[in-house]
Amino acid sequence: ESVVNRIAAGEIIHRPSNALKELLENSLDAGATSIAVTVKDGGMKLLQIQDNGHGIRTEDLPIVCERFTTSKLTEYEDLSRIRTYGFRGEALASISHVAHLSITTKKADSDCAYRASYADGRLVPARPGGRSEPEPCAANNGTTIAAEDLFYNIRSRREALKNAREEYSRILEVASRYAIHNSSVAFTCRKAGGPKADLCTPQASTAIANIRQIFGSKIADSLVEIERADADLEAEFRGYVSSAVHEMHKTVFLLFINHRLVEHTPIRRAIESLYASILPKASRPFVYLDLHLSPANVDVNVHPTKREVRFLGEDGIVGLIVDSIHKAVLSANN
Ligand code: ADP
Ligand code: MG
Repeated sequence: ESVVNRIAAGEIIHRPSNALKELLENSLDAGATSIAVTVKDGGMKLLQIQDNGHGIRTEDLPIVCERFTTSKLTEYEDLSRIRTYGFRGEALASISHVAHLSITTKKADSDCAYRASYADGRLVPARPGGRSEPEPCAANNGTTIAAEDLFYNIRSRREALKNAREEYSRILEVASRYAIHNSSVAFTCRKAGGPKADLCTPQASTAIANIRQIFGSKIADSLVEIERADADLEAEFRGYVSSAVHEMHKTVFLLFINHRLVEHTPIRRAIESLYASILPKASRPFVYLDLHLSPANVDVNVHPTKREVRFLGEDGIVGLIVDSIHKAVLSANN
């Protein structure tokens, strides 16, 4: 059973940045306004996320890493109306099958914090001979989750992830994207013991200010804002997109649908071909799109990592996005 769970977990958590995405979404679901990521060895030795969210109830700690344990379903019985990021209760369980996981958490109304360690979905003693129960400790309000020795029990995965620098850059990329999209939240991302944070965005910022900080003024200055809503399509979006040629090594494509960082190949292709026809020299555009759809129209279940999504009315919505970008680029160049 343990091997089956480990394989299933490996389907969801391929690399440190997948784990980070799940942990960041949990912190955001918990209402955090400050999130700090600390990384050792590309996240393979340590991936730690500290937030100041609402914390986890002590009585929930023993079960929080069991599969399908979620506190988010009771609030939204109807799966089609899910508004939070999580809803399957698989992330912590999966991580606990492929790493040494520990949780330190304190709710605002609790006198002290509790720390718990997990393996294979279950609470385990923090040290050999200790008891399998959360231990009281001192900590700030909020939750700190540490995943250590990722894939210690899956040799093939470990060997596939030898490049700590590459893994760290993916981590930084995921953290930066969430920072841009959640601009009211303060984000930091750093290597443990490093001289300074590699990502540090202030609280109560704006998406464009964070884009400027992360991608630089040249890119920020070349962007135009787009915004559109369509009642028939039940779609609404805003964002920032390239309006002029700028030096980019590669396309930057940040798509959030209902606040989830996702891939949507038809949208990406349509935007890329638009740029190829109207701004051939900007064929590697910067695109940040914050798209809201009726949750009932979105199918987030196509892939276990929840990256590629599908939704109803795709053609119409893709057309609306392309039209909106086209007009914004034309008017910025007139
Ligand atoms: P899901 O997000 O799908 O509910 P997860 O496995 O990601 O499942 O998390 C399980 C549960 O653990 C969540 O439903 C939530 O109650 C709790 N949880 C996880 N991370 C945090 C956090 N940072 N702050 C507060 N609660 C958390
Ligand atoms: Mg989750």
